[in-house]
Amino acid sequence: MRRRDLLIAGLGSCVAGCLSRESTSGPRNDSTGIEPDGNGPSDVDPDDDPAEDTASDAVDPSPFEDFEDLSPWTSDGGTLTADDATYYSGTQAARIDVRPRDRRGAIRRTFAEPVDLTGNGLSLALRATADIYPRIQLFDTDGNRLDLRAPVRAGVPFQSYPFGIDHDGGCDRSAVSELRILTYTGGGESLSLWCDHLARTPRPDTPVVLFQFDDGSVTDYTQAAPILESHGYPATTFVNPDAIGGRDALDLEQLAELQAGGWTVGSHAHSHDSLSSLEPAIQEARIREGKQWLIDHGFEAGAEYFAYPYSDYDATTLELVDEYHRLGFAAGWPATGRVPNRLLAPRRGDPDPAEARRLLDLTIRHDGVLTLLFHSMWDLADAEYHVDDFEAIVDYVHEKERKGDLEVCSVAEFESRLVAAESPAPYR
Ligand SMILES: [Zn+2]
Repeated sequence: MRRRDLLIAGLGSCVAGCLSRESTSGPRNDSTGIEPDGNGPSDVDPDDDPAEDTASDAVDPSPFEDFEDLSPWTSDGGTLTADDATYYSGTQAARIDVRPRDRRGAIRRTFAEPVDLTGNGLSLALRATADIYPRIQLFDTDGNRLDLRAPVRAGVPFQSYPFGIDHDGGCDRSAVSELRILTYTGGGESLSLWCDHLARTPRPDTPVVLFQFDDGSVTDYTQAAPILESHGYPATTFVNPDAIGGRDALDLEQLAELQAGGWTVGSHAHSHDSLSSLEPAIQEARIREGKQWLIDHGFEAGAEYFAYPYSDYDATTLELVDEYHRLGFAAGWPATGRVPNRLLAPRRGDPDPAEARRLLDLTIRHDGVLTLLFHSMWDLADAEYHVDDFEAIVDYVHEKERKGDLEVCSVAEFESRLVAAESPAPYR
């Protein structure tokens, strides 16, 4: 069975009924699902980690895993077992059960010979019973650390997640001697986490940046487009057709003009709902009608692309986006390698200039991929997001782009160059 078929089969067995999740409330902002530091108060700073001994009894020099043999791994929080009933590839996955008394779930292994990870990102297939933001930690032979992270939604079948960079502690990726996978709970919770199929993901030769906009604000046209156009940068606007032509919203003529100027017009679902809170039939209608509206109004190219409202999804949503779209975007960490799963391309929302510089510098240092997402922006003193901040970010991108440190891509270029058609083969 091909990986893709396996994935679909897994989704089909878990549509509707087996998921329950409170609807996401709060500001109309698709980056709110994830704070830059992840889990909030329960997410203990790993610098406090008391267990730093790295005595090695490992026998396998490779850093990557199909988790068919768990003997190199030890538990460092929670209980580690092999699960041959729930897995992504091969015959089993590593299962970590975290009890209320555990502060975290964690597994670790060392390598007899340091491993060279230069030029590679990492992806990991995960499944969890709670919404978590797990880390992969790499340690070099001097103990310097690199933290990679991805958001994982409760109850969703195994997905291969692209891990972006959360903390760069100066780890020499050419000499990685220890690998950890962990998620902090702060104690008091039970959860189960399955890990499988840790794989290298190639990085682009030149770091890549994408500009995206959600919710169809008129400021895409009046504010952002002129700034991007002055540098010839493409962008994508993900719109909710039910809001087009409304107050402070883009109208059809402006959308057509944006497209003529090199923008892509994608779907943000027909209306802006937390999709996981809707019945499957309603979800299907929102996603199908959002796409159909784009096709009916001359935006066929963008109709292939989707951005999850509030970055919210469940198993049904993923199955539907797989059916109706070629690519789906949700919140995640920056500076990934090639995206291993076309349903879950990561992006970062509404950074201020300082945060954007940090994200861009990480992306440049690690030869990564970064999608920057914005919403409305106004030239007003009390604006929630000020257009001057956006302009400062674009200027910084331009400064780096002029030096050849990065390039700005359209979503179509991104798709053709940096999204795996199939999930990556496991490392053997
Ligand atoms: Zn939105």
